[in-house]
Amino acid sequence: MIAGILQEPQGENRVSLLPEQVEVLIKKNVQVVVEASAGNNASAFNDAYTSKGATIASRAEVLQSNLVLSINPLTDADMQQVKEGTVLLGVYQPLFNFQQVKNWADKNISTFSLDMIPRTTRAQSMDVLSSQANIAGYKAVLLASTLLPRYFPMFMTAAGSIAPAKVLILGAGVAGLQAIATAKRLGAVVSAYDVRPASADEVKSMGAKFITLELEALEGAGGYAREMTEERSNKQRELLTPYIAAADVLITTAAVPGRTAPRLVTAQMISHMAAGSVVVDLAAESGGNVEGSVAGEIITTATGVRIWGGKDVPSQLAFHASMLFSRNVVNLLLLMSKTADGKPTGVIEADFSDEIIDSATLTHAGSKREKGK
Ligand code: NAD
Repeated sequence: MIAGILQEPQGENRVSLLPEQVEVLIKKNVQVVVEASAGNNASAFNDAYTSKGATIASRAEVLQSNLVLSINPLTDADMQQVKEGTVLLGVYQPLFNFQQVKNWADKNISTFSLDMIPRTTRAQSMDVLSSQANIAGYKAVLLASTLLPRYFPMFMTAAGSIAPAKVLILGAGVAGLQAIATAKRLGAVVSAYDVRPASADEVKSMGAKFITLELEALEGAGGYAREMTEERSNKQRELLTPYIAAADVLITTAAVPGRTAPRLVTAQMISHMAAGSVVVDLAAESGGNVEGSVAGEIITTATGVRIWGGKDVPSQLAFHASMLFSRNVVNLLLLMSKTADGKPTGVIEADFSDEIIDSATLTHAGSKREKGK
């Protein structure tokens, strides 16, 4: 079997498989071809791949592989070159790219989307949403600390004492919890809010204060949040306003699967923050938790608050983001591969009765898969 690694589009620094994981596949008798320079931005140069036994090739050659690996979806031009029976593995976001997935279903190819695997303990080692959200949460705090014209920790100096920064996190899922941990390590005083009551204990266990609002909980299926009604949104915004006004740093990470990000913070709420405060909106690319945030830009409001809209955030820590992504990919591939003497061989033969594989499958054998069939 031949596995091909594609170069990601402009602006994406990560690569779907680093040399250390190429080696794992090669030991399973998989041949690996890598598009020239695919790993450069993740500090994995061509010779690092060849030293592990991979071959460097053109994009057209990589697209002829039995298994094509990428992070971002293939372009329409790429899809013209993919042959029948190919397996594609990447992050395709079918809930947003519905039409694209429908087009793929017309081809006789199998597509597996890593963002669709369940958020269960068994699937954790393949969970790219978690591995990449962790990085986003960490990076959000570092970026905020760079923009903030204040210290994060408390200091007692000869010139007097400095109070620690107050950091507020909205959305305490994977990214939010990592943001809490990172801000705590830097010495800030941290508080957080989430609509899922289960997150309260997790927030407290990290040494942060959980903000309880007099509102109904919004826990949905699979541990995810549910969408808010407009009435609840307004009430939540009203109740959060004093907490936002008191924060030096506000980091928002709220998301609801398949929906645009909930609008948690208005420009009016931000106008209550002190000049110099910093807002990081990690949901800027999916609609924005914060009014006025623009993905990839820093906007300064009339009252001197800086709003950073997150864009390709895991890509900004490209080496470790790629390393964790690669491990997630290989763990899923080994789960999907045939076994001999109880060990995975590397040859893909997906068992659709496995919940993880079934959830990841978008198309198979010329049709869009209906789950559980
Ligand atoms: P996510 O990216 O979908 O959302 C981020 C956070 O935003 C969530 O905590 C969500 O509750 C919160 N949120 C949504 N709307 C909000 C609102 N209006 N106001 C405030 N907060 C709001 O979430 P995620 O980080 O991908 O995690 C999803 C779930 O998966 C969580 O329950 C998490 O604990 C769970 N999970 C489980 C495992 C496991 O191994 N068991 C692994 C990873 C994640």
